[in-house]
Amino acid sequence: MSPLPEPREDLRALEGYHSPQLDVDVRLNTNESPFPPPPAFVDAWTDALRAAPLHRYPDRAASALRDAIGAHLGQPGERIFAANGSNEVLQTLLLTYGGPGRRALVFEPTYALHSHICRITGTEVVEGERDTDFRISPTEAGSLIAAERPAVVFVCSPNNPTGTVEARATLDAIVGAALDHGPALVVVDEAYGEFADRSALDLVADDLPVVVVRTYSKVWSLAALRLGFAVGPSRIVDELDKVVLPYHLSVATQTAGLAALAFGDAMQERVTTLVAERRRLEHALALLPGLTVFPSGANFVLFRTAGDGHALWQGLVDHGVLVRDFSRWPRLDDCLRITVGTPDENDRCVAALRAVLEGR
Ligand SMILES: *Cc1c(COP(=O)(O)O)cnc(C)c1O
Repeated sequence: MSPLPEPREDLRALEGYHSPQLDVDVRLNTNESPFPPPPAFVDAWTDALRAAPLHRYPDRAASALRDAIGAHLGQPGERIFAANGSNEVLQTLLLTYGGPGRRALVFEPTYALHSHICRITGTEVVEGERDTDFRISPTEAGSLIAAERPAVVFVCSPNNPTGTVEARATLDAIVGAALDHGPALVVVDEAYGEFADRSALDLVADDLPVVVVRTYSKVWSLAALRLGFAVGPSRIVDELDKVVLPYHLSVATQTAGLAALAFGDAMQERVTTLVAERRRLEHALALLPGLTVFPSGANFVLFRTAGDGHALWQGLVDHGVLVRDFSRWPRLDDCLRITVGTPDENDRCVAALRAVLEGR
């Protein structure tokens, strides 16, 4: 066989994104909404799609969508940048503000795609550590920013996979340090922001290097449609617009994002249900033998088992329940993460856990 070209030297060690999908009854491993979107949304969206001229490129600036997202959040449309899932938003941020010769700071353990997209974009990753409660220490973050001079600082709040919500004082300290040394761009990943009791959205201003990233994948029940957005200074949004590919956001995605905003009340109801279910799940887990449950502000719960985490994960799979196995991740020994599902799914998950832990 003739040889094929090698990929970029710095990509050779890269591993793809792994989250195994198994064919089980109860799938609580990828943090999507357990509820499909309202049928009336599907009607509104497909009507809008039928009316769209499919032989024409979509609105390149996605102006209607940006204005509508902005109006929904009380922000001008010029501060909104939309893309195919918040992962594409993060990639565009790193293509624009990271890249060769630049560094990005992450606080581990956190969302693996932050450092993965850094590597793909040739951005050097600097790893800060969280404390034993998985919180970011504001003083340590400040010293790291002063010492390492990152171009981008990622703050994931609520943090995936730990659920940790950062205090406003921590965020203020990070933004202060970012302003003093750089300025660095502070990217607050709020993929789960709607499930938490605080947000960094009110920090967004035209003269502050803060960008908040959100998604339709979790709260809005639209993971299949791939839509995420950033809220940030309009000058930063202008730079992102130059970097992202032209016509990147299909008309199907733009119309879906617009139509969904009319169903804000239905979505808020789901958030309320999921937060109540999260609390119920947290209490039920805390009553099981040997589990340490970490406080969560998201639609998932992380816990550590006193026993073998991977064996517990396998035991759950054998009972038809798939959760996310973090047991062999650095800093997350014997930890598993459960996405909050429907009340019935959560009950089945707790029953399976009890059965495995009690050796039945
Ligand atoms: C799920 C998730 C995202 C990305 O979701 P998209 O589906 O690409 O919008 C981004 N950040 C975090 C922390 C996530 O958990």
